[in-house]
Amino acid sequence: MSKLKAFRSSFLDFTNDPFYANELESVRYIADGLLVIENGLVKELGDYESLQAKYAGIEIASYPEMLIMPGFIDTHIHFPQTEAIASYGEQLLEWLHKYIFPTERKFQEFAYAQKIAAIFLDELLKNGTTTALVFAAVFPESVEAFFTEASRRKLRAISGKVMMDRNAPDYLTDTAETSYQQSKQLIEKWHKNGRLLYAVTPRFAITSSVEQLRVASQLLDEFPDVYLHTHLSENIDEIAFVGQLFPENEGYLDVYDRAGLVRNRSIFAHGVHLTDAEFARLSEAESAIAFCPTSNLFLGSGLFKLEKAKSKEHPVKVGLGTDVGAGTSFSLLQTAGEAYKVAQLRKQKLSPFQALFLATLGGARALGLEDKIGNFEAGKEADFIVIDPKSTELLAFRNSEATTTLEELAAKVFTLMVVGSDRSICATYILGNLAYERLN
Ligand SMILES: [Zn+2]
Repeated sequence: MSKLKAFRSSFLDFTNDPFYANELESVRYIADGLLVIENGLVKELGDYESLQAKYAGIEIASYPEMLIMPGFIDTHIHFPQTEAIASYGEQLLEWLHKYIFPTERKFQEFAYAQKIAAIFLDELLKNGTTTALVFAAVFPESVEAFFTEASRRKLRAISGKVMMDRNAPDYLTDTAETSYQQSKQLIEKWHKNGRLLYAVTPRFAITSSVEQLRVASQLLDEFPDVYLHTHLSENIDEIAFVGQLFPENEGYLDVYDRAGLVRNRSIFAHGVHLTDAEFARLSEAESAIAFCPTSNLFLGSGLFKLEKAKSKEHPVKVGLGTDVGAGTSFSLLQTAGEAYKVAQLRKQKLSPFQALFLATLGGARALGLEDKIGNFEAGKEADFIVIDPKSTELLAFRNSEATTTLEELAAKVFTLMVVGSDRSICATYILGNLAYERLN
């Protein structure tokens, strides 16, 4: 007999994209709901009153005055950079050479990589992130360490070995051939091992030869359901350098495109300076962008044109990325708040529901995982978070009124985006099991 569990609280998730559909048709809010889980999967979500009799006698965990949402999805982050968060004073290329490359060197040692992977994953859970697309380092040991720790926690996680064969210190480079062999071995061992998935991960066009980019494409041909994960059009100096390295190409995206890397399972981080033609090409290829506002602000990279990606003519899949360690927070609540501010600086408006869609179902769609995660549809994996809208004295004061309408809910979740943090996450559940609980 399968064992049923149930959770009683308020629930918020998305059943449609609020950038295109009316918010009333996209947002599902149940003020007093019951979420029923069977074997780690969602069995049913509905009103407590209407489901109570049907599930009489099963164990119910109650979270009064809390808000339960699907776990957050981080579509771009680097686990080896955890210890380099908040490194002062540089923009992208200088920052990489001064802080990041020396840090990533340490990840050739499995034990060290495993220690940092554990800290990193605990930090994700503490911030309510239940799925992430993660850069490891160039060393296969770093990927082994990451997947070992993600597997112990039963997380749905995606990662891959960084491929980089030029314009980086010798201690951090591979070759086209070794990057092919090592990636292939890691794919065969880890892709679809439990909930884990693999991403072919060339760092960016600057650090890969044409030969290596082609090898990455060959891996995508040989293993059609793995991902491509890289950086794109983040910083002005970076784009100029790409232009020098690839003078025969028509812009940054074209470098990846001619190598065969622009596909429907390709996720490109940043895209801050994309042209209209590049947005159109990403739309046509059904590729995705990871929008990383805290990172773009921290490195002074620029302001992402979200409204171009979410246009009706050329819609591009978009998720939110924290991009730690250039990003300044593991919290997707805070990242959503910074996305709002980036929109403000561009005279655009990002609604709280749109932002939280990007952090949940939008991220799942960006990763092609909307059949498994992202909301509370029956049959999906029961990764969810319990949010405390009164987690600090300030939030308790600000959110002292009860929430009944959707407008009041929007106002409440907006306060969490703007002044919330990891403290706002009261508990995180993976496959219906408690994986993190805030203790004070
Ligand atoms: Zn990054």
